[in-house]
Amino acid sequence: MERKEFQLNDIVEMKKAHPCGENRWKIIRMGMDIRIKCEGCGHSVMLPRRRFEQKMKKVLQRAE
Ligand SMILES: [Zn+2]
Repeated sequence: MERKEFQLNDIVEMKKAHPCGENRWKIIRMGMDIRIKCEGCGHSVMLPRRRFEQKMKKVLQRAE
């Protein structure tokens, strides 16, 4: 399987939208765990990297 590339501050789309209706998330922490913040309501969730990679659909906007 191809490894997804992502980095801090990228905006990503997940396979499942947040219950608030938004499906744009910003990566705000990278490490063993990845923390992403919903761009709609500001709620943030932390996921183990592996799990994040499974749930992430694509990078919408790359951080410079
Ligand atoms: Zn939200």
